[in-house]
Amino acid sequence: MPARRRRKKVLVLGGGFAGVECVRRLEASLGRDGGVEIVMVSEDNFLLFTPMLPQVASGTIETRHIVMPIRTICGGATFYEGRVRNIDPHGKIVDVWGTGQRRGISIHYDFLVVALGSQTNFFGMSGVEKHAYTMKTLNDAVLLRNRVVDMLEQAENETDPIRRRGLLTFVVVGGGFAGIETAGELMDLLHDAAKHYPNVGRGDVSVSVLEAMPSILPGFSGKLAAFARQKMSERGIDIRLNTAVSGFDGREVEVRGTGEGEKEGGVIMTNTLVWTAGVTPPNTVKRSLLKTEGGRIVVDENLGVPGFAGVFAVGDCALLADPRTGRPYPPTAQLAEAQAKTAARNLHALMRGGKMSPFSYKSRGQMAVIGKRAGIASLFGFNIAGFWAWALWRNVYLSKIPRADKRIRVLLDWTIDVFFDRDIARLKLVTKPAELEYAELDEVDDVW
Ligand SMILES: Cc1cc2nc3c(=O)[nH]c(=O)nc-3n(C[C@H](O)[C@H](O)[C@H](O)COP(=O)(O)OP(=O)(O)OC[C@H]3O[C@@H](n4cnc5c(N)ncnc54)[C@H](O)[C@@H]3O)c2cc1C
Repeated sequence: MPARRRRKKVLVLGGGFAGVECVRRLEASLGRDGGVEIVMVSEDNFLLFTPMLPQVASGTIETRHIVMPIRTICGGATFYEGRVRNIDPHGKIVDVWGTGQRRGISIHYDFLVVALGSQTNFFGMSGVEKHAYTMKTLNDAVLLRNRVVDMLEQAENETDPIRRRGLLTFVVVGGGFAGIETAGELMDLLHDAAKHYPNVGRGDVSVSVLEAMPSILPGFSGKLAAFARQKMSERGIDIRLNTAVSGFDGREVEVRGTGEGEKEGGVIMTNTLVWTAGVTPPNTVKRSLLKTEGGRIVVDENLGVPGFAGVFAVGDCALLADPRTGRPYPPTAQLAEAQAKTAARNLHALMRGGKMSPFSYKSRGQMAVIGKRAGIASLFGFNIAGFWAWALWRNVYLSKIPRADKRIRVLLDWTIDVFFDRDIARLKLVTKPAELEYAELDEVDDVW
């Protein structure tokens, strides 16, 4: 009897914007092809819709409304929830960590897509890593919201003015999307919540943004960035340019000037530092056998990894220079999805003996919300600022949420936010997680 043909396996690592888009495209193009199996491995069993993460931190949107379970949006793929431990592109095997609670597995593949995204980069500052809050995961947003409410509770009854100032000062580091949107939302939350704390006046709270570069929101025109800065300053958010952080001990942030002739240092007293100043690929990517530069996987114009046929890298963890500027593409969700589409098309071509096509990308524009019903948008060459940019942001991003039920839930959250105050209940369920310790088990499940 002839041996049954083994199905070809496409393994996608990472369930973020790039991984999910790639799987969905492959599902659509391969249809009912019984000869190919699509497998995804990701640490979380959901896609996190990061553009709305700051609104979870500020309590405008409920926590679960911005996450889509992978099983509900990539139904045609076999899904493994787990953390990738090692990628062996020579043996075509990916190992997934085992823990005390779960068995480690080794998954063999024929084609591989690495879409493992990025993690917060602390640039080696251990004090910052230990004491700062971050804005990258759902847990980060929940922790920050709890922290803000806790600071208000403590400040309400604090009589020492110096301690009180530290409690009510919030410093956000990084003037990119994540930092600016977080600072705007933070101020909204503080202003809304302060009315429940009779001893905390609006003028008592302070939010600052520290940015090491001479401008905020890179990628936007100077005019739009200046508008954002002006609007945020009017709302009391102090944006300090050319200011880099050199340390944080949980009470004081050390800063130094980075501009010409502004090298002087100083300290800012705060109990809460939110670090959004950079990302770096996960360690799994950095220590893989795939060629990396600055930690990101170097890819060719087809998004393939040189030297390993059938291996692609997309999204934040991939490094490709924009031919127009000669500089690496910035890490955005829009770019991650565009790369995933090309990788899925090229994978399909590779399987069918077709011709691969190079990645080409033209950004449709960018948008950011900067707090209380204001935003900036640069779309198809048009610049919009203020309320209409904010309304556009909401429309566009709402339509991008991949599930109708979540879209409705977010819309309801926004509507409720117009008519009611924010909930200031502090949930003590989530604490800052200890570094995950993964135990290696003797028994490893081999998945062919
Ligand atoms: C607060 C915030 C706001 C943002 N706003 C915008 C915006 O408005 N517009 C925009 O275009 N971009 C925005 N971004 C950037 C955007 O989120 C990223 O560029 C985008 O998520 C990149 O997609 P990705 O698939 O490459 O990575 P990710 O979305 O990060 O996905 C990577 C996936 O891999 C998983 N993973 C990582 N390591 C492992 C491992 N070892 N094992 C298993 N799984 C692993 C992760 O859990 C995750 O599911 C924002 C980012 C943040 C943090």
